[in-house]
Amino acid sequence: MKISEIFEKDTPTLSLEVFPPKNDEVYDKVEKATEEIARLKPDFMSVTYGAAGSTRKYTVDSAKLIQKAGVTALAHLTCVNASEESIKEQLERLKEAGIENILALRGDLPEGVEGTDDWVFKHASELIPVIRKYGDFCIGGACYPEKHPEAADMKTDIANIKKKTDAGCEFLTTQMFFDNNIFYNYLYRLREAGVTVPVVAGIMPVTNAKQMERILKLSQAFIPRRYVALLDRFGSEPEKMKQAAIAYATDQILDLLCNGIEHIHIYTMNRPEVAAKIQENLSEIIPSCRRG
Ligand code: FAD
Repeated sequence: MKISEIFEKDTPTLSLEVFPPKNDEVYDKVEKATEEIARLKPDFMSVTYGAAGSTRKYTVDSAKLIQKAGVTALAHLTCVNASEESIKEQLERLKEAGIENILALRGDLPEGVEGTDDWVFKHASELIPVIRKYGDFCIGGACYPEKHPEAADMKTDIANIKKKTDAGCEFLTTQMFFDNNIFYNYLYRLREAGVTVPVVAGIMPVTNAKQMERILKLSQAFIPRRYVALLDRFGSEPEKMKQAAIAYATDQILDLLCNGIEHIHIYTMNRPEVAAKIQENLSEIIPSCRRG
């Protein structure tokens, strides 16, 4: 099923992200986590694409597994260092596997690379027409409530998001954020700039202090004092921190729903128990979270 059709139903949705195996050694472990998460029957599941296509085959395998479990899959696809031919090949694999949804991304610049001058595709907005050329996919893209780190300012970044939706991006998923007010302000600015597609709020339950350090390095997200306090109090006790992170994420989601945000995406980090707990907390509120 296309994600655009899922969003047409007038009910809140909760979707879950997994990452595919990085190599054969972890294949079984990752496959097991993916299957367990798929058993939770979320509205859809997304599968990431390793830096510069490093998990190309595994992304297709994981997406197949998800669809086999009866859950709609969204396969990520990046265009850094890619040719039109390599994109076409990946799209053919996805089509063969019955995948109808693609998250079109540029991807991160490989270490030591400054610019994109030598690349065929410099931005996700240039990848989207190629995806459209080779198949009838529902296409999504990424957006950044705290601005993409390379963008000079928010106005420019939002103008570039508009180019993405003008190119055919049908929905946007946000980078993780921990302060809903940042998201509300961003959404207002997107709408003001004429970006009208559904925006899916990306929520990450951060369950340990080390993970938070990594996230800060990658996304430069603002961490509210309340989250810092949780990390101070429980950061060195994994089970307590996990419970606190799930409670924080649930609280964030409830506030989003109360403010009219209908679509929530959880960055699960392949932890079925975290995804299951959040679903349980929302079982009377989001239809796909109801068990039985
Ligand atoms: P773009 O939309 O191309 O934007 C990148 C920068 O270029 C921005 O600063 C933007 O303002 C600017 N820009 C955009 N379009 C134009 C234009 N037409 N002209 C001039 N400037 C422009 N990475 C992975 O490797 N694999 C994944 O699976 C993955 N999944 C992700 C999922 C989500 C929901 C998010 C938020 C990010 C994900 N990423 C993933 C990370 C992403 O690849 C990086 O953030 C990357 O740096 C930017 O990708 P993008 O598609 O947003 O790029």
